[in-house]
Amino acid sequence: MLKLYNTLSKKVEKFKPIDDKEVKLYTCGPTVYNFVHIGNLRTYIFEDLLKRTLEYDGYKVNHAMNITDVGHLVGDGDEGEDKLEVGAKREGKNPLDIAKFYTDKFFEDTDALNIIKPDQVLSATQSIPEQIEIIKILVEKGFAYQGKQAVYFDTSKLADYGKLTGQKLSEKKTAREEIIIDKDKKHQADFALWFFLTGRYQNHILHWPSPWGEGFPGWHIECSAISRKLLGQPFDIHSGGVDHIGTHHTNEIAQSEAAFGMPLCNIWMHGEFLQINSGKMAKSAGTFITLQDLKDKGFSPLDFRYLCLQAHYRTQLNFTWEVLLSAHNALEKLSEFLSSEKPGQVGCAGYEEEFVEFLNDDLNLPKALALAWKLIDDKELPKEAKINSLLKFDKIFGLNFANPPSAEHIVPQDIQMLIDQRELSRQQKDFKKSDELRKHIEALGYEVMDTAEGQKIRKKLQI
Ligand code: AMP
Ligand code: ZN
Repeated sequence: MLKLYNTLSKKVEKFKPIDDKEVKLYTCGPTVYNFVHIGNLRTYIFEDLLKRTLEYDGYKVNHAMNITDVGHLVGDGDEGEDKLEVGAKREGKNPLDIAKFYTDKFFEDTDALNIIKPDQVLSATQSIPEQIEIIKILVEKGFAYQGKQAVYFDTSKLADYGKLTGQKLSEKKTAREEIIIDKDKKHQADFALWFFLTGRYQNHILHWPSPWGEGFPGWHIECSAISRKLLGQPFDIHSGGVDHIGTHHTNEIAQSEAAFGMPLCNIWMHGEFLQINSGKMAKSAGTFITLQDLKDKGFSPLDFRYLCLQAHYRTQLNFTWEVLLSAHNALEKLSEFLSSEKPGQVGCAGYEEEFVEFLNDDLNLPKALALAWKLIDDKELPKEAKINSLLKFDKIFGLNFANPPSAEHIVPQDIQMLIDQRELSRQQKDFKKSDELRKHIEALGYEVMDTAEGQKIRKKLQI
């Protein structure tokens, strides 16, 4: 029986889908104005583990995700520029070209991490009519009003606004006092549904006609519109990172529930942050790390996936190069074990049962991973049976166990020549020359290991 922690009820609940046959899962997608960082990717790995667990439990999953390509301002609370326009200015391009480029890059990263692509993906700019439709309903029902700069959601009209955090409206107002006060709003917690091309947004590049005037949507409305269009309302599970609880998801709930008088979804799940030096990932502090940065140091994307499996999704994870290196070494050991024998016809039933129990206990991947190691170390069981079970576990882990990542990388020709020379000197028992050649190879950034099958070579990881 699958149990999941619901941010809304603040409890671990037994999972029961609305429709027995299909689980409807919605994920907030990236804002595509820059490369995603490994913190963002931790959240997408968590969501992938959730989806794989549902499938392991026999459910068919309909997974939908948006792509934010307009309306997400630099500050979550209606202040600052649109992030896409910032990206467009920075690179001297059109916001839609920026969006296309970084959307492709995002999916390259998620593919490399074995994150299964959502079944349905839709961007904010492709769902403008659906967003306008919901705003119209909110205006008609008296939940929204028109100001000079935008159409706003009136948070005072919704009795349980803020229920996701348990924060009262009055507390939210106080917390926001430092942020620029938008004189246009009736209450400071009110948020924009549709911005007009006036004042700070008069030169906004992307804009569309609407019943209230030419403009562009606020960030939150796209998720209400896209989830409803792709999955219906209510759907089963909505997921995202913890930073979205207080504003983005709170506002999604407000919009969808006020417009349609029913819950947006049943379960809210949030992944905790990946921290760096116990702080936020920020470009200015040099702590904004991308998957490419990891690859540049010789790591495989799956080393990072392994690292994420070691921490429960509801605990913070502090990234350091040292922990990534130990993840890399552990994955390498696993791969050696897996490639040492072919899988047998049967697995290890007891371990497989325990594995499912850990997964179903609110996705306890750290325990599931520890179980894989316990299985490897079990002296009683035959290796083929262990490998059979490990391949099943990999349906969740997503670490390419069937085709273990090789430690040996493609070696450049000049290095290969040195290795061949060293092989010759070893055969001729010229150990002095062999040692010199080893030093030479190492100076060029490669490690040489002498094994029973001959020399093994791999790129040294520079951390
Ligand atoms: P954004 O593009 O800002 O909407 O972020 C994409 C996803 O990454 C969202 O689900 C965020 O909650 C999540 N996220 C942002 N920063 C981090 C972080 N440091 N660690 C984990 N998840 C994050
Ligand atoms: Zn969203």
